[in-house]
Amino acid sequence: MSTPLNLLIIEDNNPADFRLILRHLEKHGLAARCHSVSNIKELETAVAQGGWDAVLSDYSVPMLDFKHTLGLLQAQEPDLPLILVSGSIGEEKAVELLKLGVWDFVLKDSLTRLVSAIERSLRDAASRRERRAAEAALHESEEQFRAMFELASIGMAQADPYTGHWLRVNQKVCEITGYSAEELLQLRIEEITHPEDRQKDAEAFQRVIRDETPNYRIEKRFLRKGGVVAWANVNMTVIRDAAGQPTRTMATIEDITDRKRAETYREMGREVLQILIQPGDLKDSIQRLLAVFMTRTGFDAVGIRLQDGEDFPYFTQEGFPEDFLQTENTLMGRAADSNLRPEINGKVCLECSCGLVISDRTDPANPLFTPGGSCWTNDTRTLLDIPADEDPRHHPRNRCVHYGYSSTALVPIRTRDSIVGLVQLNDRRKGCFTLETIEILEGIAAHIGESLMRKKAEMECNEARLHAEAANQAKSEFLGIMSHELRTPLNGVLGSAELLTYTSLDEEQNSLVELVRKCGEHLLAIVKDILDFSSIEAGKLALDVAPMTVTEVVEQSALIVKTSSAEKGLTFRCETSRDVPHQITSDALRISQILINLLSNAVKFTSSGSVVLRVAPDAERRFLDFSVEDTGIGISPETIGLLFKPFTQVDSTSTRAFGGTGLGLAISKRLAETMGGSITVASIPGKGSTFTFHHPLESATFSASGMTSVPPPILDWERKKSVQQQPPSPVQMGEIPRESHPVLVVEDDPENRMLAGKMLRSLGYRAEFAADGGAAVEAFVPGKYVAILMDVVMPGMSGMEATRKIRQLEAKSGSHVPIITLTANVMPGDRDQYLAAGMDEFLSKPFKRGELASVLARETGSVGNS
Ligand code: ADP
Repeated sequence: MSTPLNLLIIEDNNPADFRLILRHLEKHGLAARCHSVSNIKELETAVAQGGWDAVLSDYSVPMLDFKHTLGLLQAQEPDLPLILVSGSIGEEKAVELLKLGVWDFVLKDSLTRLVSAIERSLRDAASRRERRAAEAALHESEEQFRAMFELASIGMAQADPYTGHWLRVNQKVCEITGYSAEELLQLRIEEITHPEDRQKDAEAFQRVIRDETPNYRIEKRFLRKGGVVAWANVNMTVIRDAAGQPTRTMATIEDITDRKRAETYREMGREVLQILIQPGDLKDSIQRLLAVFMTRTGFDAVGIRLQDGEDFPYFTQEGFPEDFLQTENTLMGRAADSNLRPEINGKVCLECSCGLVISDRTDPANPLFTPGGSCWTNDTRTLLDIPADEDPRHHPRNRCVHYGYSSTALVPIRTRDSIVGLVQLNDRRKGCFTLETIEILEGIAAHIGESLMRKKAEMECNEARLHAEAANQAKSEFLGIMSHELRTPLNGVLGSAELLTYTSLDEEQNSLVELVRKCGEHLLAIVKDILDFSSIEAGKLALDVAPMTVTEVVEQSALIVKTSSAEKGLTFRCETSRDVPHQITSDALRISQILINLLSNAVKFTSSGSVVLRVAPDAERRFLDFSVEDTGIGISPETIGLLFKPFTQVDSTSTRAFGGTGLGLAISKRLAETMGGSITVASIPGKGSTFTFHHPLESATFSASGMTSVPPPILDWERKKSVQQQPPSPVQMGEIPRESHPVLVVEDDPENRMLAGKMLRSLGYRAEFAADGGAAVEAFVPGKYVAILMDVVMPGMSGMEATRKIRQLEAKSGSHVPIITLTANVMPGDRDQYLAAGMDEFLSKPFKRGELASVLARETGSVGNS
C-alpha cells in the first residue's frame, strides 16, 4: 500500500466542499491525508510546517487573496504543485492564473479530472525537483571548476579545436604570455607560438583531435607580448560531445622559462669555458665569446668592456648603435671637472651614465644589484627613479631608456683585487633576466677574469723569458768579445815567449820564459773553458758523432795526466774491461774532454795514493761507464750538491791551493747530458772520490736526444789543431829563407803584427804588413803574395770585407791567394761566415809557431805546386 499523500486544502468554511473533495479522492482510490486551512494565518502555519505533496485551493476564499496565496507558496516551496479547484472563473482568468504559476485547474462541478491532475502535478513536481537538484549540482561543480581554473598556479586554457582560437584563459596564462585575457581571446594559439615550435605543436594537436592519443605534452616556446620568449610545458587534451565530436581543447600550461633560460646560460657557460681554455690569443677568444653571447641569448646588443688606462671602453661589442657607443664608451665615474671620482674606500668605481655605480661594495638592500655585485634590471624605466646629480654628462639620463633597451645587465669581470672589465647585455624586450641567469653570467665573467689573469701571468712569464734570453744572448756576446780581447794579448804573450825559446837564453832566462808560457797557457785554458761553457749555455753545442775506438780515446786522455800524476808520485792505471766494445759511435773529442777533466781533478785533489780509470759496461749493457777513482781529499756530503754548478768550487780554500775555474764539472755534466748520458759521484771526505761518466751504449740515444752530427765550427776548429798529430816539421831558425815568398800580414794590433812578422821570418817567409782591411786591398796585387794572414776585427774595413774585395780582384786574373784567418773570434758560427767571405784556413789566437808553419806549408805548398 502506497504512502498516503499529504494534501493541503484551502477552502472557505464550507465543510461540504471539503468533504466532497475527500469523498472524490477516496472514491478514486487516492490515499491522502488532507488538512484544510481557510485564512492567512492557518495557511502560513501550514506552509511553515511543510511536508505537503500538493495544495488544492479554491479561488475565492473570503479570508484569503488567491494571488497572495500563490505568491507565498511559490516563494516558500516553488516545486509544490498548486491545483486550483473552484467554480467557474472564466477562461481568461484561468489562463492568467496558469501563466502566473498555477499548476492545473479543476472545476468543482466536475471533479473527474482531479485525481489525474494531482498525479500529473506530482510527476511534474518530482521532475522539477530533480532538474533543480541537477542544476544545483551542476552549478556547484561549475563554481568549483571556475575557482580551480581561475586560481590555479598553473596556466589553464581552453581553445577551439577547429580554429585554434583561445576560448578561455586563466590569469596565469596571461602572466606567461604577457597578454590580457581579452587580447588572448582575439588570438589563435599559433599566432603566439614560436615559429620553430609551430609544426611540432600542430602535429601533436592533430594526433589528439584524431583521437590517436588522449592527450599530448610538449615543451614549447610562446612569443610573449613584446617579443621575449616564454618556455612552457603544455599538457593538452580534447573535450568531446556525446557524439564524440571535439568541442574544445583543454590545456595546462606550466611556465618553465626560468629553468630553460638557466639551462641555456649554463650551456653558454660551458661553451665559454671551452673557448677560454683553448690556447691562443685571449683577445681572439674574447671576440669569440661575444659571438656565443649573441647567439645563445638572442639579445639585441652585447659588449665586453676591458680596462684601458682609466677607462673601460668596449673591447668588443655587437648590436649597439654608433651614437650609443660614443656616449657610453667610458664607465669611469668622473666629477664635473673630469677628474676620476674615487669611492670612499679610495678605489675608483665604475659609473654608468644612468648613475649606476659598480664597485667592490654593493648595497645588499639595492634590488638592482646581485650579491655578486652585478647590476641588472628587466625594466630600465625604473632606473629613472635614481636621483639625478649635477653632473651635466648625465643629461639625458639613462641612455638605455633613451635607446629603448628595457632589459640590461652589467656584470663585472674581476681579477683578484679589482674590476678589470664588464660584460654588458642589452635587450629592447622587458624581462630578459632572472637572478639565476645573472649569477650564471657572473660565473662566466669570473672565468674571463681568471683567464685574463692567467694570460697576463703568461705574458709576464714570456717577457721574463725574452729578457732572460736577451740577457743570455748579451752574455754570450760579451763572452765572445771578452774571449777575443783576452786572446789578442795572449797571442802576443805566448807567441813572444815561444819565439824567445828559439833565441839563445841562459838557464834562468829559459825558466822565466817557461813560466811566462805556462801562465799564458793556463790563462788560455780558462778563456777556453768560459767560452765552451757559454756556448753550451747558449744551446750552441752540437756533437760530431762518428765511429770511434774506445781504447784510443782512453789512452789519449790518460796520456795527458800520466806525467802530472807521476810528478805527484801517484800510481796511475787504466783498467778496461773485456766487455768494452771496440768501437762505439760518439764524439771522441768530447768524451776525452770529459775524461781529461775528471782525471785532472783526480790528480789535482789527490796528494798520495792512486788514480784509476776504469772502463766497463754497466750490468744491463745500456751504458759504458768511465769511472775515475782517486784516493784524494774527497768531498763532504753537504757540498757534493754544489759540484756541477758552474763557477762553484766546493771549497774555496782548495781553489787557492789547487787553482781552477769551477767550470770543468759543469761543462762535463752538460756534455754528458747532451750525449744522452750523465755523471755521478760517490765520495768520502779524506778517503777519495769516484766520478763516473755513464755514456749510452746505443747510438739511438743520440738521435733521440736531438743531437746532430754536423760538425760544429768550434769543434772543427779545435779539432783541426788537436788532431794534427805530426805537423809538418816547422822550419827551424836558420833554414833557407823564403824571402821570395812574401806573406801579407793584415793586423791592426801593432804587437800582434810585429809577432806575426817575427814568426814568419823565423819560418823563412818575408812579411809585409797592412794595418786594416782597406790597406790590405790597396796593397794586394794578384800573384804577389804566397799567402795572406788576415785578422777579422779591425777598424775601418774588416777582414771579411777585405777578403771579399780581394776575391773580386782575383776573379779577373784567375789567381787565388790562400787567405788564413787569424782571429780571436772563436764563437760557434764564426767559421761559416769566414768561409762564406772566401777565406781558406783559420788560426785562432793565440797560435803556436808550429801551427802557423803547418798551415802555411799546406796552403803555400799547394800554391807552389799549381
Ligand atoms: P775546477 O776547475 O775548479 O776544478 P771543477 O768543476 O772541475 O772545477 O770542480 C769543481 C770543484 O769540485 C773543485 O774545485 C773541487 O772542489 C771539487 N772536485 C772536483 N773533483 C774532485 C775530486 N776528484 N776530489 C775532490 N774534489 C773534487
